[in-house]
Amino acid sequence: MPCPICKTDQHLESIRTGNFPKVGTFELLRCAKCGLIQTHPTPYPGYDNLYSLTDREQYYQSHKTLLEKYSRRDVAWVQHYHPGGSWLDIGCNVGGTLDGAKAAGFDTYGVETSVGAQVAAVHGHKIFAGLWSQAAFVNQQFDVISIIHVLEHIHDPLPFLALTRERLAPGGHVFICLPNYASLMRRAKGDGWYGLGIDQHVWQYEPQSLARLVEAAGLRVTCVFKRSMDHDDPQRPWWKQVLVSGVLVAAQLLHWGDELCLVASKP
Ligand SMILES: [Zn+2]
Repeated sequence: MPCPICKTDQHLESIRTGNFPKVGTFELLRCAKCGLIQTHPTPYPGYDNLYSLTDREQYYQSHKTLLEKYSRRDVAWVQHYHPGGSWLDIGCNVGGTLDGAKAAGFDTYGVETSVGAQVAAVHGHKIFAGLWSQAAFVNQQFDVISIIHVLEHIHDPLPFLALTRERLAPGGHVFICLPNYASLMRRAKGDGWYGLGIDQHVWQYEPQSLARLVEAAGLRVTCVFKRSMDHDDPQRPWWKQVLVSGVLVAAQLLHWGDELCLVASKP
C-alpha cells in the first residue's frame, strides 16, 4: 500500500516478518523516507464485526477498574488544555473515556462503528453509530477531539485527520494515543507485544512518523510524549512481574514508553 505521507510505495523496506496462528505470515514494511511502518498483508478493518455486544460488555465489566483509570488519566491530561467545553471521542467504544469527560463537566459526543455505540448512547452521550467520514455532526465544531487507540486501525489516516482538523473549533485541540513501536516494551516482548495487533493494526507509529502525518493533515503539533500501558497481570509469576516492572521503570527513564501520545492544534 502506498505510504499515506509520501504517496508512494517506492521506499518500502521489509523490517520484520513473523507468523501468527490466527493470521499466518505477516511482514512489517517501513517507508525509508518518512519512517511510517505498515502491516503487510493489510488487515481488514471490520471493527463493526469484530466484537459482539456481549463481548464488549464483558470486557468493559472485567476491565472496569483499569478502563476507569485510563479515563481519569486522559481527562486530567485534556483539562490541562481545556477545563470544559465540547468533547468528541472518535472510536469511543462503550464510552469509557466519555463517561469520565461527562463527569468532569464536558458536553460529550462520540463516533463508533461497533455495537459499543449502543452502550455509549445509554450512558447519555450524543453518539453517531458509524464511520467518522459519515458522522452526522454537520457544521459542528469541537473544543476537544480525542482519537485513542484508533488511528493505527485506519486505512486512510490522512483524510481522517484532515476531517478532524476541519471539525476542530478555533483554539481546539486533538488528542491522539496509540501504541509506540519505538518502545522498550515492544523490543522486550517481540511478537507478543500487545501493540503489534497484527490482525487489526494497519500502521505502526513512532514519534516522528506520527508527527509528520499530523502535520501533513494541516495540524500543528503542540506536544508529544510517551507513557506506559498497565502491564500488571495477576496470572504472571512474581519473578516475571519483577522483570516487567524493571522494563517499565527503564522505559520511563529512557522515554521509551509503549503508548505514544500527541496533542495538536488547528493553526
Ligand atoms: Zn513515507
